[in-house]
Amino acid sequence: MGDVLAWIREVAARVQAQQGYLTELDSPIGDADHGANMNRGFKAVLQKLEESPPADITAAFRTVAMTLIGKVGGASGPLYGTMFIEMSKATTGKDTLDAAAWADTLRAGIDGVRARGKAEQGDKTMIDALEPAHAALVEAVQANAGLGKALQRSASAAAEGMEATIPLVARKGRASYLGDRSAGHQDPGATSSHLILEAAADVWGD
Ligand code: ADP
Ligand code: MG
Repeated sequence: MGDVLAWIREVAARVQAQQGYLTELDSPIGDADHGANMNRGFKAVLQKLEESPPADITAAFRTVAMTLIGKVGGASGPLYGTMFIEMSKATTGKDTLDAAAWADTLRAGIDGVRARGKAEQGDKTMIDALEPAHAALVEAVQANAGLGKALQRSASAAAEGMEATIPLVARKGRASYLGDRSAGHQDPGATSSHLILEAAADVWGD
């Protein structure tokens, strides 16, 4: 449980540190608010966790979800909110998360994002970082890689997926309004998804 809170706090710290970068990425193909959206959301998450400490992992993820949905105006709020709601449901009754449980939890979260946003891999969204990260995680679990290695591989796959959004033409979200002009820019949401998974690897890895 402490581990999950440590991860959420690390995400909040990194979002704050990378706020300018995330917003910069959202300038040419969006409305220059992704960093501000994420930072507003995760700052509120920290405050909420402090005010009402969650009893378990499920409650912690639920707090993250409800706060992001309530505080983040952009598309990313409801999408990450849905991801954390589904992760909350997937961790019901769990006291700890090993690599296999984390893979299942992430799967549930990604399925939530896909159900809500209807994006497929290749649409130049957060899904392009999340899906390869999950696939790498599953592969590492099957190879008995251990939690630290599995998380590292998952974060590396997220980084590759994030970079692979650069040449893509956006088919979902605000960037899709630009059509072909969205190509040549890294997707901000794929970048924040990578940040979230890299924080997990650094906090939970050994
Ligand atoms: P907004 O686009 O409303 O300003 P943000 O700037 O906070 O919201 O977030 C933009 C990011 O949200 C995009 O970079 C993309 O990764 C993600 N996104 C937008 N629409 C979708 C969708 N339908 N499915 C998945 N991700 C999406
Ligand atoms: Mg935006």
